[in-house]
Amino acid sequence: MSITASGWSNKKGTADRSCNCGTWKDHWIKYSGKTWPMSCSVNGCSNSATLGAHVWNPAVTGEKIVPMCASCNGLTGSFDLKGGITLESANKSETCG
Ligand SMILES: [Zn+2]
Ligand SMILES: [Zn+2]
Repeated sequence: MSITASGWSNKKGTADRSCNCGTWKDHWIKYSGKTWPMSCSVNGCSNSATLGAHVWNPAVTGEKIVPMCASCNGLTGSFDLKGGITLESANKSETCG
């Protein structure tokens, strides 16, 4: 299944959300089965990925977690993701809930 890379936005008000994995970074690693990437998932950004960000897209069902830098996590508009980014479900009932 291919998910669009364009038109993503940060989900507001997620700072107080937690899950059984400890951090959303750990959540992403646990459910993707991949190693944490070197850089942020946002297209054109080369900062280090430091957190698992909640993102959403009107064309995609459900909120997702992607590796991101703190700077991009503060973006208020929509942005594109790099190709080949792994998006993990943020729905705890499907994962660690
Ligand atoms: Zn989790
Ligand atoms: Zn970034």
